[in-house]
Amino acid sequence: MSRVYNFSAGPAALPEEVLQQAAGEMTDWRQNGAGVMELSHRSKAFMSIAEEAEADLRELLSVPDNYAVLFLQGGASAQFGLIPMNLLGDKTNVDYVNTGQWSTKAIKEASKFAAVNVAASSEAGGFNTVPAQSEWTTFTDAAYLHITPNETIGGVEYGFVPDTGAVPLVADMSSTILSRPLDVSKYGLIYAGAQKNIGPSGLTVVIVDKSLFGKAATITPDAFNYQLQAAAGSMLNTPPTYGWYIAGLVFKWLKQRGGLDAMQQANKRKANKLYAAIDSSSYYSNPVTVDSRSWMNVPFICGDSKHDTEFLAGAVDAGLHSLKGHRSVGGMRASIYNAMPESGVDSLISYMAEFERTHG
Ligand SMILES: *Cc1c(COP(=O)(O)O)cnc(C)c1O
Repeated sequence: MSRVYNFSAGPAALPEEVLQQAAGEMTDWRQNGAGVMELSHRSKAFMSIAEEAEADLRELLSVPDNYAVLFLQGGASAQFGLIPMNLLGDKTNVDYVNTGQWSTKAIKEASKFAAVNVAASSEAGGFNTVPAQSEWTTFTDAAYLHITPNETIGGVEYGFVPDTGAVPLVADMSSTILSRPLDVSKYGLIYAGAQKNIGPSGLTVVIVDKSLFGKAATITPDAFNYQLQAAAGSMLNTPPTYGWYIAGLVFKWLKQRGGLDAMQQANKRKANKLYAAIDSSSYYSNPVTVDSRSWMNVPFICGDSKHDTEFLAGAVDAGLHSLKGHRSVGGMRASIYNAMPESGVDSLISYMAEFERTHG
């Protein structure tokens, strides 16, 4: 069986070249007589893997030296609680912008630790856009302001980086990190579960301005204290070593392909094509306002929802997998992260056109 085009939102497709290399190194990494999964995280071999991965990520994102890059466990959802635990300090208020289901979850979790002010929300309109910053009502004394730059379920993405002045900007970049260049210096903290655009699930990347250290609540578990993990090189306890290694291979793959400028061009082209196909059709539609459409997750619905099952089954027959929309929204969703080649989007567009011809 050959590999399919996998449109899964996460865990998502990884570059085939990365998987091939990992397969080749599975039982013996560079003549160490053991695979990466079996190496001590403190061994020279693994330390070199870890350091190279961090250096490559720093290079890809041009991470300034005053930021720590952490390779942690727990997923983005654990960060929902760990962020207020680590960043609140002597403040009590935090600002959140609610643009969809992931923001909503982040707000709910943060509410256990802080007084959350929802500075803006697009919930009333069905989360189909990002509220303009001019409409936000923020606290002046917030410990930070949290956004979800790409809502993976709704397919809603910020077309701008908010200016939050002296208030640190915190961003859940799980489904958009590495899709294009990023000015890290505009953020206090960036976090991402790896399983969308970085590597396997089980790894969470946190990039944090070190000037935010020293504010952690005393109850913060050491393994989730950013400052302590930074001081220990993310090895205060056993890190997710295999995920870290695969992420490192993905970073190399990105560099070989021209880095994030090249990714930006490729991702923009893929997304534009798919939205153009949806917009020019009288059968498919996407509910998101044009300025807030995600490059990574493209939800769409058929003219008749009774066709959904048939659409999805036919897609599988055509080698187009995991197009079912999130259970909460229904319809279809094509996740087209870095590892989705343009040929996959082309195949999807052809399939959609043929399905419309016979069902529209
Ligand atoms: C997938 C996702 C999450 C949840 O990640 P977990 O690793 O499952 O906790 C949170 N935020 C966004 C934007 C996501 O896409």
